[in-house]
Amino acid sequence: MKRNLERYQRQILIKEIKEIGQQKLFNAKVLVCGAGGLGSPVLTYLVAAGIGNIGLCDFDIVSPSNLNRQFLYTPLDLGKQKAYIAKAKLEEFNYDVKVTAHSDRLTEDNVTEIFKEYDVIIDAVDNFESRYLINMVAYKNSIPLVCGAVCEFEGILTTIVPKENTSCFRCVYPLNPSVQLTSKMFGILGAIAGVIGSIQALEAIKLILNLHCLKNKILIFNGLENTYRVKHITKREDCTICMHHC
Ligand SMILES: [Zn+2]
Repeated sequence: MKRNLERYQRQILIKEIKEIGQQKLFNAKVLVCGAGGLGSPVLTYLVAAGIGNIGLCDFDIVSPSNLNRQFLYTPLDLGKQKAYIAKAKLEEFNYDVKVTAHSDRLTEDNVTEIFKEYDVIIDAVDNFESRYLINMVAYKNSIPLVCGAVCEFEGILTTIVPKENTSCFRCVYPLNPSVQLTSKMFGILGAIAGVIGSIQALEAIKLILNLHCLKNKILIFNGLENTYRVKHITKREDCTICMHHC
């Protein structure tokens, strides 16, 4: 596809990107799991940057309580399937980008088939069961994964690169903190999801460009105190996901 580079002029000026980096972004395939509070900024910035092939997974429909943070949707979208609304809006935003909508819930039966089409996976879901499944399948298939999560004024982020045998999401959270926890049960401020989602998009862009990423590290952002802390993560000896990966 012949693209007009003028749209990307301001990022091509960056010495770590240039035209060759922009071409890598055009050729990249990124899957975003979850098109909600994190997914809205992640998807928007990936599309803006000209990531050529973007997949999005979300089985949910738009509800009124989504609208404080999920800016891909408006009140006119209430009751409609998020995956298709998001795809239409993102493709309208940038014609250079092909967006594929996956509207099924991710399960052990379909996740490998979906993931194998992509170079980078982004975990932008809202529950630990899905996070563990995404972590396991991304690691098993050696696909880099950018995990992000938010709760009230705090957000966390880590990047996992199986080919470099980094620690994984299970190393950070070996046990589900709360079996019942879902995004409907704790507070989320849109601006906090915006911060973490933006950094997730940035991590994906850096993975594609082979730049420094948050590998074996976790970023902890506290919006109330305005602090960003980066802590090292070590692999757990007993991690069933990453410890014996070749
Ligand atoms: Zn692990």
